[in-house]
Amino acid sequence: MVETRDPDCLFCKIAAGELNTPFLVETDDVVAFADIAPQAPTHVLVVPKRHISSASALNGDDAGLLSELVAVANQVAKEQGVDQSGYRILTNVGDDAGQTVHHLHLHVLGGRPLATLG
Ligand code: 5GP
Ligand code: ZN
Repeated sequence: MVETRDPDCLFCKIAAGELNTPFLVETDDVVAFADIAPQAPTHVLVVPKRHISSASALNGDDAGLLSELVAVANQVAKEQGVDQSGYRILTNVGDDAGQTVHHLHLHVLGGRPLATLG
């Protein structure tokens, strides 16, 4: 896998350990860390180390990475104790979805009933 990085990207810096953000999980390709402004008792971000701007930039070559992102999200849910009560995995793409950091990340939200979408 080609490693790419955007020097101006916040999550590239966090994933590289440059901001000393504590990681809840780290694998070769993925890190998970607490959201700075949690929207639920559990709010963790699962982020590829490689810079990918959003889910819309994923392609067939990224199937393994996507699977790993979801596996880490599930591991986080288990470690946070929300795997039985339920949790939401979501990713925002673009302005209307409210994407503010343009480096792919899965939100893992849980620990309280979450409003239904729609
Ligand atoms: P988005 O709105 O792009 O889907 O999600 C970006 C998320 O990143 C937000 O929930 C926001 O609170 C979180 N965030 C922004 N800056 C930082 C930061 O410096 N550290 C951490 N841990 N989270 C951040
Ligand atoms: Zn990045």
